[in-house]
Amino acid sequence: MEERKVNLEKITSLCQKRGFVFPSSDIYGGISGVWDYGPLGVELKRNIKEMWWRDMVRQRDDVVGLDSAILMNSKVWEASGHISNFTDPLVECKSCNRRWRADQVTSTCPACGGELTPAKMFNLMFKTFIGPVEDEAGTIYLRPETAQGIFVNFDNIINTTRKRLPLGIAQIGKSFRNEITTGNFIFRSREFEQMEMEFFIPPGSDEKWLNYWLDQRFSWYVNLGIKKENLRLRRHGPDELSHYAKDCYDIEYLFPMGWAELEGIASRTDYDLKRHSEFSGKSLEYFDDETNEHYIPYVIEPSAGVDRSFLALLCDAYDEEIDENGEERVVLRLSPKLASYQAAVLPLSRKAPLAELARNVYGELKKNLMVTYDESQSIGRRYRRQDEIGTPFDITVDFQSLEDNMATIRDRDTMRQLRTPISKLKDVLDAKFSGEPFDVLPEGSTYWLGF
Ligand code: ATP
Repeated sequence: MEERKVNLEKITSLCQKRGFVFPSSDIYGGISGVWDYGPLGVELKRNIKEMWWRDMVRQRDDVVGLDSAILMNSKVWEASGHISNFTDPLVECKSCNRRWRADQVTSTCPACGGELTPAKMFNLMFKTFIGPVEDEAGTIYLRPETAQGIFVNFDNIINTTRKRLPLGIAQIGKSFRNEITTGNFIFRSREFEQMEMEFFIPPGSDEKWLNYWLDQRFSWYVNLGIKKENLRLRRHGPDELSHYAKDCYDIEYLFPMGWAELEGIASRTDYDLKRHSEFSGKSLEYFDDETNEHYIPYVIEPSAGVDRSFLALLCDAYDEEIDENGEERVVLRLSPKLASYQAAVLPLSRKAPLAELARNVYGELKKNLMVTYDESQSIGRRYRRQDEIGTPFDITVDFQSLEDNMATIRDRDTMRQLRTPISKLKDVLDAKFSGEPFDVLPEGSTYWLGF
């Protein structure tokens, strides 16, 4: 197998250098396990979330969306089991006092080799207070998952949408976990975003739907452009299953630090609705008018992390190669559906009338696409900059453009160029975005230089 050129240091450094991700509160030295997404990062992240929302909600008749609040009644977390069970085993080094997750270390401290204390259970939920009095009654939690907001709205949604089962409820939002050890860049953070869907089904159909969602969700990552050989499904062993799960699989990605979870897909039975019914006193039974039965629905839950998808996509897209001038170039081979910019407009000169023509091209393309404009430094350096952030196409306007009203389109991956009428740019780009190979020559275009 070809050795991978990517490692986490390169990705972290690229992200900070180019404005994808910064440490949170950077000027104060940061805060452990918390990150800010910069101008390029926020675009890529939005594109990931939009693809998920499109595929999981908008394109389906059997899934609806939700945006529930982060703060919830604390009873929710009693019912869900998070207050008693959402814990990790914590050990502390007797010499340097560093804290570790017991299941992630061997018998001694990884930092100094010191002796570790026996493990004690540590609850991962962040606590805060609602209202002015900081007492037991006012204690609330930052949600550690978005899923519970869905369960407690099940009845509202069934009653207002007139949808029948099987029905999924999906949401994207922030979650918070006071992880004992953070690390591997944005892989394990204390504040992160999840894309979760609870798919409510008649009891007994859980195996069929679990298989359906395993297949759908695995294909989703492949469709985003992640290489199939870097993805795998791993079934949880009986000792690994959460307190609510009947069966569970992880979709794992081969990160530079090894295989690790991107998404969990769990068969949760009727555990959550039953518990919320018990704790709230409200019946959450569903009446199935096809079978004339009352029952508490079973649930299949695909639960994905936005930040982990972001990291996996960057790792998978990262490449280094030698360019046409014999120099090394870094290129992010991101799908055009996801890249922060879909195209860059680069005039060969920053002087009028060339810059004016280029600005017009930019203004037109900007109406429909996410485009950037850059007129500083040599054209070679500008190409490199766009390659490094994953922009799939560069559009160059040169002196000849003033005469023939044509511009060149340069393909990030092959570095080849086409010369196309400016009036056709949008159509040509659209065709290439939809998967037309770059060397298929559009009508009215010619091959240029690199061919
Ligand atoms: P892990 O075993 O890695 O701690 P988990 O099994 O606790 O993860 P889930 O509770 O199944 O994770 O959460 C669903 C998804 O949310 C995960 O697959 C992951 O993508 C994301 N996620 C969970 N915890 C974090 C975190 N601390 N930082 C970033 N993403 C996270």
